[in-house]
Amino acid sequence: MKVLVINAGSSSMKYQLLNMEDESVMATGLVERIGEATGKMIYKKFPDTDAEAKVERDDHVPDHRAAMHFVVEMIKDAEYGVIKDTNEVGAIGHRVVQGGDHFKSSVRVDEPVKDIIKEISPLAPLHNPAHITGVEMAEELLPGVPNVAVFDTVFHQTMPEQAFLYAIPRSLYEDLKIRRYGAHGTSHKYVAQQVAILMDKKPEDINVITVHLGNGCSMAAVKNGKCVDTSMGMTPLAGLMMGTRSGDIDPAVLAYLAEHKKMTIKEIDTMLNKESGLKGICGLNDMRDIHAKAEEGDASAKLALEMFSYRIRKYLGAYAVVLGSLDAVVFTAGIGENDDIARSMILADLDCLGIELDRGKNEGRIQEAKVISTDASRVKAWVIPTNEELQIARETVAVLNN
Ligand code: ADP
Repeated sequence: MKVLVINAGSSSMKYQLLNMEDESVMATGLVERIGEATGKMIYKKFPDTDAEAKVERDDHVPDHRAAMHFVVEMIKDAEYGVIKDTNEVGAIGHRVVQGGDHFKSSVRVDEPVKDIIKEISPLAPLHNPAHITGVEMAEELLPGVPNVAVFDTVFHQTMPEQAFLYAIPRSLYEDLKIRRYGAHGTSHKYVAQQVAILMDKKPEDINVITVHLGNGCSMAAVKNGKCVDTSMGMTPLAGLMMGTRSGDIDPAVLAYLAEHKKMTIKEIDTMLNKESGLKGICGLNDMRDIHAKAEEGDASAKLALEMFSYRIRKYLGAYAVVLGSLDAVVFTAGIGENDDIARSMILADLDCLGIELDRGKNEGRIQEAKVISTDASRVKAWVIPTNEELQIARETVAVLNN
């Protein structure tokens, strides 16, 4: 079966066409700056050995319909296409950021499912409406092809109440569904499954801490294949220090800022989401730039790196206790896969957890799954490149086969 994976954001749309016979990528790309004066459309077909395999256009993309139109036209294009007709697409898998309390698994999309995704939108106001638009465009331009929603929150739905409830009046959970949902679930699930395969174990037989470090950063404690805790909260603002997000903070700071700086709730929210994290400490949010500045001797860049690693170490300790016993720690995403300095800072001196980093194996960018701990290390440290598109396609096939 060929599966088209769609990740629709408020002003962008990422896509990938996979052949699930062998899980190979047939075509991939991205449409950016939808609705702005000049948008960008990228299409790439595989194998991409010749330069002709890539199409790049800077042009006005008025809306998501135009974006989806570009995707559909390109995949069946006479010159660049990889299929002859859209009826060769067996299913469309949509990434959906927020499934609330409602969705415990990926689902085939029908009208009631769309209504529930819309209903949950207040919890993800930028994302869920865009996902619905993506589904509607797919229904219009690929009529008859089933759509499946794959939620970022589903993997975390196995958390027990003690982990997902906030210690605030319980009625707020019952009335407004305020609780920890977590995010990056598709990525955490993918690497947790992969590490079990690579360690020749069943997911049910191991305990893993997964560490997703991209622009957004989160960790998950995965016990016998099921998530029992994760660092992001009702929204992705909680937990680790991120590119521009603060992560955990004393909530009293918000009231203090409102009173003493006369900031509105909206201004505080923007500050915590967009002006904090690494950027708040050293003015930069891209890890590569931060390392370059730290190498020049910049104290604020060094401090940002230390704070970033320290917070992850605290969560490692906490999750090791939550799990009781630990088999592996897995790093993934942009920083997790590429940043050997960050990994070595995070895993330094962790005898207490039974993790011993092998500095040689850790060195450099890692593009294929690899152990970075010593042979003697009781707990194995891994780098496993994430593949959210493949996981979405796998879930899509599984839903339709059920
Ligand atoms: P997103 O959350 O947007 O998917 P990514 O997973 O692509 O993000 O991760 C982006 C982060 O990865 C950025 O902070 C970037 O600096 C970092 N990164 C990418 N390549 C490297 C590298 N070679 N060394 C250090 N950090 C890197």
